[in-house]
Amino acid sequence: MKNQKDLKNLREQMVKIQLAGRGIRDRRVLEVMGKIPRERFVNAPEPYQAYADGPLPIGNRQTISQPYIVALMSELLTLKGDEKVLEVGTGSGYQTAILAELAAKVYSVEAIRDFYLKSRRLLKPYKNVVLAHKNGYYGWEDHAPYERILVTAAPARIPPALEDQLSEEGIMVIPVGISTFDQTLYRITKKRGKLVKKPVCSVAFVPLVESI
Ligand code: SAH
Repeated sequence: MKNQKDLKNLREQMVKIQLAGRGIRDRRVLEVMGKIPRERFVNAPEPYQAYADGPLPIGNRQTISQPYIVALMSELLTLKGDEKVLEVGTGSGYQTAILAELAAKVYSVEAIRDFYLKSRRLLKPYKNVVLAHKNGYYGWEDHAPYERILVTAAPARIPPALEDQLSEEGIMVIPVGISTFDQTLYRITKKRGKLVKKPVCSVAFVPLVESI
């Protein structure tokens, strides 16, 4: 077991070495990731493992991304603080907590009921977060359009509903690919109703399921 001070040190190291050291520049992203106790969301046998430089299992054969990828996706969203965001794949709720600190309102959907229930408990302090146990392949029509959409599981193709629910000039960050070993992270902007897609890097996410 490590005490709170050790965990704070590990968190600071994570920000310095894994994030800033690899080119994450958004000061708000660095600040928030230096603050949120990742060990509370990740179910590692030892709390310090939450700060490892890699993905971690969160149960139900799902994983939470490596801290760098979480930071990169958050940075790519270029959040100023007044946006309405849709997240697909709440999972542990860690990324949701980050979005809650960086944006005005976060709607997050999760296909696995256990995750929905657990993250609902962990995210209770965030009054600007609304969660649902729901198939995010179809987005969340009721609150659309969204200025930002973040997808943390990979579809083979961009789901049409997410395209429709993105606002004009909105930004979507999404991994796309048929197999876990052949995915590309995209930063997509909607311009005059059309998606302008920019590949960012190769990634490995769990698949976005089409039916739950
Ligand atoms: N952002 C999460 C990572 C979650 S892993 C975190 O910080 O922990 C991807 C998540 O997407 C899994 O929890 C998985 O159950 C969920 N998922 C997969 N397909 C989905 C779908 N169609 N709708 C909603 N959630 C989905």
